[in-house]
Amino acid sequence: MPECDILVVGAGCFGLSTALHLRRRNMGKVILLDREPLPYSDAASQDSSRIIRADYPDPFHAKLGLEAIEQWRHDSTFSPAYHQSGFLVADMPGGTFVRKSLQTQKQLGHQNVRMMDFSNIKSKWPGLSGSLDNGWDLYYNPEAGWANARQAMLSALSEFRARGGEFISGPPGALETLLFKDTESVPKVVGVRTVDGTSYHAPKVVLATGAHVIKHVKAGSMVASIGWCVAHWRLTPDQQAVWANHPVVNLHNHGYFFPPDSTGLMKMGWGIISYTNAAGPWLSVGIPTEAEHGIRHILRMVAPSLEHKEFFDMKICWDGMVGDRHFLISRVPSYDGLVVACGGSGHGFKFLPIIGRYVADLIESKLDSEYEQRWAWREQHIEALTGAMKGRLVKELADVVLGARL
Ligand SMILES: Cc1cc2nc3c(=O)[nH]c(=O)nc-3n(C[C@H](O)[C@H](O)[C@H](O)COP(=O)(O)OP(=O)(O)OC[C@H]3O[C@@H](n4cnc5c(N)ncnc54)[C@H](O)[C@@H]3O)c2cc1C
Repeated sequence: MPECDILVVGAGCFGLSTALHLRRRNMGKVILLDREPLPYSDAASQDSSRIIRADYPDPFHAKLGLEAIEQWRHDSTFSPAYHQSGFLVADMPGGTFVRKSLQTQKQLGHQNVRMMDFSNIKSKWPGLSGSLDNGWDLYYNPEAGWANARQAMLSALSEFRARGGEFISGPPGALETLLFKDTESVPKVVGVRTVDGTSYHAPKVVLATGAHVIKHVKAGSMVASIGWCVAHWRLTPDQQAVWANHPVVNLHNHGYFFPPDSTGLMKMGWGIISYTNAAGPWLSVGIPTEAEHGIRHILRMVAPSLEHKEFFDMKICWDGMVGDRHFLISRVPSYDGLVVACGGSGHGFKFLPIIGRYVADLIESKLDSEYEQRWAWREQHIEALTGAMKGRLVKELADVVLGARL
């Protein structure tokens, strides 16, 4: 019966970062479990690319983003995966994201951020030759960029292991049920049993199973499993020459795409509609036809030379969404000994180098009160998911037509 001081279940961005920081602090024997070896097939943190930015209207997230970027630049575990390409955001007429983010960055002393107009953009980045000039606000931050998520995760796992951490994946790492000891007041979590029947015992358990957390802990309307669509394509060598040195482009609430990697691979995520899948099992391969059309539509508006590229690796990526889009990093009130670290809410990956510090602080009972409040168990205090999506459409997968599958 394996025993340890702290058991972390789920080796995505939240769980792996936690496990790494626990070992960096020498906090005893740490076992990290996942149902799959890394890179995982459908975890939110395993992808080719993730935006790394501090551009948020809310100063809390902006400061956290700046702290993370500092580590993406200087922590040798993460820096090889980081590309400071710059970040260009467009917001629809009447939107507030761009102007408020600009204001927040300036307030925090970052004067390099600036508004741009579309004609400047076309001459600076020739790939962006579309006609997006009808009153959209455009904002550029040269200090942001993107990371190869898979590369960063593998590197973090390698450091965790080098520091004595144990990673167990596959059936012996797949949580089936939490193990409890009944005490007089609240049940105490004393470990987990995995699908192969192994029981792991630990006085402290961190549950970081991302979109799957709600399978093991009742979180009411606080967290929902939401799927977002992505598609990949590859540039020809000629196109790659044109697309060298382009920034990450984000049409706020519509979709975003990354500059090519060294092999000419590009990826776009679609933000207009997201999906739930009440029936399960969750589908990750293939996307609804409307999503593929939506992606091509955005390319037509911004980068028309890419509109008809052949897409591959089209898939739905699942994340735990919290109503107010703040993470859920908290003790679970109904159980003693259990901490949850989840609720990436579509923007959690950029915090990979630092989020585990805060989970470790919580475990050591020294988390700063502002963070504790923001990330608290807050079922009663937040709007249900529909409120969180602020008018964006969430559809049930069973109700839509699925397009290409690979
Ligand atoms: C399409 C898309 C685009 C995104 N883009 C960005 C971006 O550009 N920038 C950004 O900062 N963030 C982005 N995000 C958000 C970010 O990727 C997530 O918030 C973050 O990766 C969530 O990490 P996690 O650890 O909570 O979940 P995951 O990475 O999903 O990790 C959960 C882990 O738990 C494991 N697991 C599940 N069930 C079990 C079980 N029973 N037993 C054991 N293990 C289990 C899974 O295998 C997985 O490894 C995006 C998300 C999506 C979906």
